[in-house]
Amino acid sequence: MSTATTTDRILTGDRPTGPLHLGHYFGTLQNRVRLQNEGVDLFLVIPDYQVLTDRDVAERLTENVEDVVLDYLGAGVDPTRSTVFTHSAIPALNQLLLPFLSLVSAAELSRNPTVKDEIAHSRQAAVSGLMFTYPAHQAADILFCKANLVPVGKDQVPHLELTRTIARRFNERYGPVFPEPRTLLSNAPLLLGTDGTKMSKSRSNSIALKASSDETARLIRSAKTDTIREISYDPEHRPEVSNLVLLAALCQGRDPHEVASAIGDGGSAALKATVTEAVNTHFAPLRARRAEYAQDMAYVRKLIAEGNERANEIAETTLDEVRKAMGTFRM
Ligand code: ATP
Ligand code: MG
Repeated sequence: MSTATTTDRILTGDRPTGPLHLGHYFGTLQNRVRLQNEGVDLFLVIPDYQVLTDRDVAERLTENVEDVVLDYLGAGVDPTRSTVFTHSAIPALNQLLLPFLSLVSAAELSRNPTVKDEIAHSRQAAVSGLMFTYPAHQAADILFCKANLVPVGKDQVPHLELTRTIARRFNERYGPVFPEPRTLLSNAPLLLGTDGTKMSKSRSNSIALKASSDETARLIRSAKTDTIREISYDPEHRPEVSNLVLLAALCQGRDPHEVASAIGDGGSAALKATVTEAVNTHFAPLRARRAEYAQDMAYVRKLIAEGNERANEIAETTLDEVRKAMGTFRM
């Protein structure tokens, strides 16, 4: 796992398409909290404009944004040491989108694997133009605050590549303004959902961080496995079983091979019982802290407003620098 120093600035975030799940936690959230506690400057964007690509979710936007912030707080994000903001509230950040789009070709945007995957899973008959701007918008989210380190899951790696390309091309054409940010992957960069595909908020295959113990047990019982009784950790040949083994191992801080051999020939039922117990034990403190914060939504909204204020100041400074570097536009 790559490490960070206190001079690093981290930006990462989560689309407000629903409550965060175990994939977020082990894929990136846990890493973010660790880095914050080590003294790194942490920025968390909730990219709400991007949700307009999904109409159903757009109708519950405010509730979803608040849900994500509660998940952050439950997971240990400390509002006094981090900046949580929504990108629609930062006009200067969004103005970076136009120069950035001019630096990439339409072909580069449309062959981006994450965009292709999102399109394949989209319930919309017609895919909006906004979907194609997603990677460039993400570059604006990252570069407006000159973040140099981005902890993400595996699906976001192609986006990060494009962010680096945009930063490099901007600097080559107009002079040095932006860092080329590094990607920070966790040791669970792609947790699978109950159906055996990537756990995703929008695919009805996820276990939410805020789920109750009973709900968690029910979801884990419904998870896809195989019929071999001997449990093993073999992600290549037994992805679903190995994913469950990994989940228990991550929760218990153990080696997945050791977890598998402890279950032995107990089959899926024993595996699922182990995973349920591990998840419910590990997430009990997070769930309790989350529920406490949920008692005071006025405080949660104030945190978002303060984060937006700080992000706005930074975005305006960066936009000024960008305009000066480009030299083409009147100030
Ligand atoms: P959506 O279905 O709306 O795209 P999502 O569940 O994929 O939601 P995002 O908001 O797109 O979540 O992703 C937020 C961050 O969490 C990204 O860094 C992403 O890589 C990471 N992430 C999401 N799902 C997983 C997963 N299953 N395993 C590991 N990391 C994940
Ligand atoms: Mg996603």
